[in-house]
Formats: sequence, C-alpha cells, structure tokens
Amino acid sequence: MSHEKDKIEDEKEQNAKNKKKNKKYTIITIILTILFLILAGILAYMVLQGDKVEKKEIAYTDLIKQITDGEVEKVEMTVGSTTVKVKLKDVEEEKTAIVPNTQAFIELVQDKVAEGNNIELIQNPQNVVLVILDGLYGILPMLMIVVLFVLILKMQGLGEKGKVYDSEAVREKIKFDDVAGLDEEKHEMMEIVQFLKEPKKFNEMGAKIPRGVLLYGKPGTGKTLIAKAIAGEAGVPFISMSGSEFIEMFAGLGASRVRKLFEKARKVAPCIVFIDEIDAIGSRRSNGGGAETENNQTLNQLLVEMDGFDTEETIIVLAATNRPEMLDKALLRPGRFDRQITIPAPDLRGREQILEIHAKGKKFAQDIDLKSIAEDTAGFTGAELANILNEAAIIATTREHEEIQEVDLEEAVKKVTVGLQKTSRVISDKDKKLTAYHEAGHAIVSRYLETQEPVKEISIIPRGVAGGYTMYKTNEDKNYIAKTEMLERLVVLLGGRAAEKIALNDISTGASNDIEVATKIAKDMVTVYGMSDVVGTIFINVEKEPYELELLGDKFSNAIGAEVKLLLDNAYQKAQSILREHMDKLQAIAEELLKKEVLTAEDFERFFEL
Ligand code: ADP
Ligand code: ZN
Repeated sequence: MSHEKDKIEDEKEQNAKNKKKNKKYTIITIILTILFLILAGILAYMVLQGDKVEKKEIAYTDLIKQITDGEVEKVEMTVGSTTVKVKLKDVEEEKTAIVPNTQAFIELVQDKVAEGNNIELIQNPQNVVLVILDGLYGILPMLMIVVLFVLILKMQGLGEKGKVYDSEAVREKIKFDDVAGLDEEKHEMMEIVQFLKEPKKFNEMGAKIPRGVLLYGKPGTGKTLIAKAIAGEAGVPFISMSGSEFIEMFAGLGASRVRKLFEKARKVAPCIVFIDEIDAIGSRRSNGGGAETENNQTLNQLLVEMDGFDTEETIIVLAATNRPEMLDKALLRPGRFDRQITIPAPDLRGREQILEIHAKGKKFAQDIDLKSIAEDTAGFTGAELANILNEAAIIATTREHEEIQEVDLEEAVKKVTVGLQKTSRVISDKDKKLTAYHEAGHAIVSRYLETQEPVKEISIIPRGVAGGYTMYKTNEDKNYIAKTEMLERLVVLLGGRAAEKIALNDISTGASNDIEVATKIAKDMVTVYGMSDVVGTIFINVEKEPYELELLGDKFSNAIGAEVKLLLDNAYQKAQSILREHMDKLQAIAEELLKKEVLTAEDFERFFEL
C-alpha cells in the first residue's frame, strides 16, 4: 500500500517552505542591519553638524546689543524653551540664541517695542511633540547604544539556548512508565540507559558505547518524551535543542551554538543531548550559497563534535526527525547516528494506554470509556490524544460540569478530529476498510501456499509510506529461491489487489507497490533466472542495457513481454481463486482487523482452527 505518498509530497513542500522562511529571516536581518547603520550614520552626522549649528547661534550679549541697535526684525519663542529664533534685518537666515531667563528677556523685548523699536515678538504655546523630540535628541545616542548593546547580548544569548534540565528534576519526572506503548522501543532504549548508568563497565569490556541514536517518527509520537525518559531512567541531565534553533538568523552562529551545546554537555557528562528536528541542519549538504552554506557549517560542526567524543565521556546524542530521507548520509556513518529507531503512531492498545496515562490527574465520571475513544482515533499520535483529554477537561469546565463526562469527551474528539481532518491525518473509514481487505488478502493467500512464510503480524495502521502491512516470519537464511516459491510469491503480492476486487468490487491505488514488486520479480524470472520455457536460459539486462533486447529482435522481445504478463496474470487469477474459495475467512479477518487494527500470528491462526 502507498496511501501516504501524498503526505510525503506535502512534507517535502513543507520543507521547501521552511527553507524559504530561513532565507526570509536572513534577508530581514540584513535589512535591519542596513537600517541600523543608516540611522547610526545620520546620528553621527547630526552630532558633527552640532558644531555648525552653534555657529548660527548668537551669544546672548550680542543679541541684546543687536536688539538695542535695532538690528533685530523678529524674535520667536516657545513656552518652556530657552532657545529663541532670531531674524535679523538684512540677513536671510534665521539664527538662534539661548536666553538664560526667558521672562526677563520677554520684558526686555517688550520694553524695546514700547520704545518704538520695530520687533515682532512671537510666543508659541508649548509643543508637546517638540518637547519630547527635543528631549529625545539629547538621549537618542544613549538610547541607540543601549539598543545596540541589547542586540549584541541577544545574539550571544542565542548561542546559549541549550537548556540543561536539572537531573534531579528529570529523575523524578519522566520515566519509561510515563511512556505508553512503544514496548519494543523502550526495550531497545534500556541498553542506552545501562550505558549511561555504568559506562565504566562497558569500557572495561572494550565495548564502544554508541554515540548517536536517530528517532524516526512523525511529530507528536513521543520522541522527545522517550528521550527524556532515558535521561530520567539513567538519572542523567537532559540537554535539548531544536535543529531549527541552529539555523535561525545570524550567519556563523549555528556552528558556534553546536560547539557551546557540546561544551555544556561535556561538563555534565554522562548526559543525554537531544536534538529535535535534526533535518533542519542535517539535510543533504549541497554546494549552494547563503543559508545552505550556513547549514553545512553547522552540520560539519556537529559531525566534528560527535567524532571527537572521548571514550571516557558518555554523551549520547539522540536526534529526532520525521524526514529520514532528507538526512545527509554522513550523519548515519558508524560512530555517529548508527542506530535508528522508528517510533510509530500508536496502535489501538497503545492509544488506550496513552489515554490512561493522560487521564491521571483529571476528574472523570465513573462510566467513561477510554477504550471506545481509542477505537475512534486510529492514526492519532500521542500528542493528539493528550490534546483530546485536555480539550475534554476544558469543555467540562466551561460547561460547569462536576467532572468530565462522556459528552465532553465526545465533543473534544470531534473538535480535535475536525481540526485534523483538514490536515488529512485521520484515516477515513473507507480507507480503513479497503486496507483491511487488502492486507487480509495478502495474509490469507499466503496461508494457503506451501512455500510461503507464516504470517507474523497484520496491521492496518499506517507505517511509513504504507497504509497497512502484513509481516511474515522468516526463519531461515536461504541461498536459493526455487521457481515455485517465486511463483507463489507473485500470488501473495497480488493477493491484496485480488481481495479488493472480490470483496469490494473495486480496486485502488493502494496496490501499486505490490504490483511494482511483482512485476520486477516476474521480469527477473524471465530475463535473469532463465525460468521461462519459452524464452529459455538467457540473461538480458533489460533495465540497464535496453539495446540488448534490440539485438535479439522483436520476436524475442515480444516473447519476453508475453511471458512476464502471463506470469502476472496467472498469479492474479490464482490469488482470486484462493480468496473466492475462502471468502468467509476474508470477511471475518477483515472485520477483525477493522476492530483490532493489529492481528498477531495467534489471532490470525485462530481463524483456521475451526
Ligand atoms: P515528538 O517529540 O515525537 O514530536 P513529544 O515527545 O514531544 O513528540 O510528544 C508530545 C506529547 O505527547 C508528550 O509530551 C506526551 O504528553 C504525549 N505523548 C506522545 N507519545 C506518548 C506516549 N507514548 N505516551 C504518553 N504520552 C505521549
Ligand atoms: Zn499490499
């Protein structure tokens, strides 16, 4: 199944958008810097100009003399200001003068006017804006220095974003018990907890402690939570930072932030360093300029830090991403993030457990049924489930209920679901039904074919690009595969499509990957393994060297095409006939899948015991 291909496209788009956003930040920074420089320039100019302004100023004693001599035409004053504007006769330009005592000055001018001196005296009321500006003019340089200072401090501060959580606090707070479901994942993490607790023991044995673990999974599946729980279980500090914080704004800071982060980690080791959204810095390196070069530097610094870990220091770097395909291969090399763990969206049981954990500390009515909520929320992540319970509590409070009731919970589910449906996260009932029949088809067909491995697990919970999956047990390492087994493999692969056709009388795009794989096998049977009587024992590299086919002539090419098609057609027919014969099982298993979402080997076998 490949229902989720669209979503992956969406994510790619999202990523492109993020990159654009980062570029935008850089541009804004540049513009701000330029504006700042211009402003500083203007200020400097103003300060320098100050000298010249003074030259236009008349000394008070000179002014008095000029007034007495009748050289002054006009005097303009503003209440509250000691600066007066003076217009001299015969001089175009207005001059200014500072008067020590405005009241005395006004009286003096009025006296002169009374004496018959022709002086125009203008008294402007106090202009608040002007007064403020006047004041600002005085403190502006100081203000700008302060702003500059704050900015510099902030820039440096950005380099210190790695938060060290108090190890005591973590120890008390988050443990594996707080992480619902994810049993296998937790089990795998236990080893890391051991490393952190007793690094010496492993070192003495000569074991190299892993440095990096990558957690794959969509947002909200609990990657941060499980990382914190590891720190909590081991009782070590948890230092976290988001990849996007490394690439924010100022050039050259990303690498220094990485350096500071690890400096801090070394001081408190043993510890956990958690880098969320590592794809923001760990995207494939390119030769582009600007923001990308910046990312390269940051990524390089991260690699340098990880390569430089002392064997004595126990720093384990956990990094999370939901875009593993974006990551630079250099990150995945041995000694770096050589362990990768997928954190899937929770299955039905997991969802119920998550709901139970988050229901603690909330007042619920007695008859509340968390299981039915779990059933209604296929495809939801832990974060979304936690959100539902929180919404329910809010709704109950606003409705003034004594405790959270079934109706509040239902409303919360609706609220969150409707919100989510817009983002097409929720799997529709129709999709679920289709997936259930499809996967049941694979499983049942394989059950009736001798050479096929037994079914290990069937699920209709999306995983990666698949809408659902059927896993088989593999018990032996085989060197050769017989023709019969390959033929039957084709039947199993097409069993999904056959089930859709038979049970729902319709077919979907969900089978495209199965068909692709089946076609590849059929082609190989004919052109690589010499398994077709008609074509014979011949090897043709169809994919890489198409001209080989031309060499052999049209008739031969047509024969190959016909044989490949025959293999696939026969397999599809066979799959359909098996399913028609066992229609009852197809119905029953698909229905059970819809109910439980995941069937174990035992669940599955039970249908064949009757
Ligand atoms: P991620 O790092 O994968 O984006 P988080 O770890 O930040 O997701 O999960 C967000 C929140 O969702 C957690 O703080 C927790 O409340 C809830 N949550 C997610 N998964 C689980 C889980 N398995 N068990 C309990 N709570 C979970
Ligand atoms: Zn399939």
